[in-house]
Amino acid sequence: MQLEERLRADIVEIGRRVYERGFVASNDGNISVRLDDDRLLMTPTGVSKGFMTPDMLVTTDLAGRKLTGDRDASSEILMHLAVYELRPDIRAVVHAHPPTATGFAVAGIPLDRAVLAEVVTTLGSIPIADYGTPSTTELADAVRRFIRAHDGLLLANHGALTVARELFAAYYKMETVEHFARISLVARQLGGERVLSREEVNRLQHLRGRYGIAAPAPLCPPDHEAGDEVSCQTVDAPSSPDARLVAPAAQPRVGSLGLDDEVRLTYRELTALIADAVKQLR
Ligand SMILES: [Zn+2]
Repeated sequence: MQLEERLRADIVEIGRRVYERGFVASNDGNISVRLDDDRLLMTPTGVSKGFMTPDMLVTTDLAGRKLTGDRDASSEILMHLAVYELRPDIRAVVHAHPPTATGFAVAGIPLDRAVLAEVVTTLGSIPIADYGTPSTTELADAVRRFIRAHDGLLLANHGALTVARELFAAYYKMETVEHFARISLVARQLGGERVLSREEVNRLQHLRGRYGIAAPAPLCPPDHEAGDEVSCQTVDAPSSPDARLVAPAAQPRVGSLGLDDEVRLTYRELTALIADAVKQLR
């Protein structure tokens, strides 16, 4: 099977799963993948993602101009283009409205606590990108702020976004985000999460290399207790490789950090730490 043919089939299959699992309603959600250095393959606007056929998909260039397809590309294409522009390592993007994760996004509660081993190793914290009107540059700009440092985001009052090196990996991250949200909700109903120790978080972060996970997965300082008045949300995305990664202290929705909780590490230092961990495991 030709690469494009296979990627079209994969997008149709992921659309079916996203719909089946209730991660979207009606015509919501969108999925895209890099076909090569200059072209994207993307879901069309105005169709249910659960019932697509391969011929419905649209190809565009990296500026979002349509190249082929009878339909128009997703109205959320700007958000996808922002990801591909800022993350050359990323080849696939999935956007959906999974109800529990979206509930956290509506409540203004980021999924930023180190409570589940698989989330610590794969995604780190899942911050909330500020609200932006869907299909506008506002939303794309909100995504830009975090996407350099995160593979999973909540979108305030909207949904969730996950990215990866290939389509199914991006989809599985969406499953993980929603699963994590459901577990967090239950834990909060039962009295609150008990976070993993700093030592365990360090151990898990070092294990990332063994799973071939290269993307950064920043975390809140693990000493944060669940239920703290102060929440860090996450370390912020750097504007350049040497930019300081700091927790965004001016997040009015989630409070601000105390000086003792600040995480200061350059992006380059963080990626070097992870690279070292991978080397040690080989
Ligand atoms: Zn949406």
